Amino acid sequence: MAAVTTTNDAEFARARAAMPGGVNSPVRAFGSVGATPRFLVSASGARVTDVEGREYVDLVGSWGPAILGHAHPAVVKAVQDAASRGLGFGASTPGETELAELVEARIARPASEPARPIERLRLVSTGTEATMTAIRLARGATRRDLIVKFAGHYHGHSDGLLAEAGSGVATLALPGSAGVPAAIAAQTLVIPYNDVDVVREVFATRGADIAAIIVEAAPANMGIVPPQRGFNAAIARIAHAHGALLILDEVLTGFRAGPAGWWGIDPVPFAPDLFTFGKVIGGGLPLAALGGSAQLMDQLAPLGPVYQAGTLSGNPLAVAAGLATLRALDTAAYARIDAASAAIADAAADALTAQGVAHRVQRAGSLFSIAFADTPPHDYETVKAQDAFRYPPFFRAMLDAGVSLPPSVFEAWFVSAAHDDRAVGQITDALPAAARAAAA
Ligand code: PLP
Repeated sequence: MAAVTTTNDAEFARARAAMPGGVNSPVRAFGSVGATPRFLVSASGARVTDVEGREYVDLVGSWGPAILGHAHPAVVKAVQDAASRGLGFGASTPGETELAELVEARIARPASEPARPIERLRLVSTGTEATMTAIRLARGATRRDLIVKFAGHYHGHSDGLLAEAGSGVATLALPGSAGVPAAIAAQTLVIPYNDVDVVREVFATRGADIAAIIVEAAPANMGIVPPQRGFNAAIARIAHAHGALLILDEVLTGFRAGPAGWWGIDPVPFAPDLFTFGKVIGGGLPLAALGGSAQLMDQLAPLGPVYQAGTLSGNPLAVAAGLATLRALDTAAYARIDAASAAIADAAADALTAQGVAHRVQRAGSLFSIAFADTPPHDYETVKAQDAFRYPPFFRAMLDAGVSLPPSVFEAWFVSAAHDDRAVGQITDALPAAARAAAA
């Protein structure tokens, strides 16, 4: 191991003098958990290593992409091979088509109508771009301006989607963002989640002007808040009855909740018009996508009037990482993730129960989070009403024991196929002391 020459505190002080808050994405600053961020130098499998040479079992997973574990050999090799052929061409490559074909084949549900809802895919570089473009496309296709979004859902940081957003916006307790013109914010109607009546009401009054509803397939940016049974199907029906589209944001859940994302396992089938993907689809490199029917997607330039472009779109290294990741995500990999996830969630629940700490394990497929509440939160208001003050001491105790949790109670715990018995055992061993800290 390389000699330790610095500390996390020293790196954070230096970073803060060079970058706003010392970070390039807000929740990395650890502000809400009262700790110094770990400055990482390497990662492998279920573990990450910081500048002090300390190793942690990781439950952040690069915020989702590291579903096979960090630096999976097949993914690293694919990226190295691609790099040896050139870092990017600004031209089309066969790999992009291969990735599009793979996603189109994978997002399939034989008993549904349509069985294969993605006929065309556009690759972009971030989830923010994917949702931003999906919204522009929905507006262009319907010739309407209004968007419906749910409080507590996070769809990236484009202007129109930051109102009452989850993730870092929730962690920092912001109502939205400064710098968003009121005229743009007014085009987004924010309503409570999991309440079909409110969706009906908003369409009854504004339906003729609504281009689309955008929804997290299973919300994971206010902690996990699963959709009530049939919710996605109900809002699809309402949107379609009014000539509006449903944009299903699977940036976080796509290829994680299952081979066909949350859409593939939602107990009530439904037909979204556009899907957005990110995180897992890029295997750890910057890649995201949006997809839908040919009729809709072909309204994008160069065929149609809705413009979108990107210097790095479909970058060959990112495509190679995405392809290698999706190919390795077989039934056995999902079974490993599901089993590890269940074991960790159950152990966390047992540890908190033993200390008398009110909590709920919130689950959506293999995704889970802990809410410090008596009853399961079902929307942003009930999420915010939990005893969130219990999370920072819980988080710090886990970190002290060598387990890296997401640094916010409003984030999911990301388990990977590399979380083997030893990694799960380390997490389980750390939980009783963390539960005691949460109880204090
Ligand atoms: N949509 C969802 C559901 C997300 O969870 C995120 C990021 O966490 C985004 C969109 C934005 O993706 P990105 O951070 O790649 O811009």
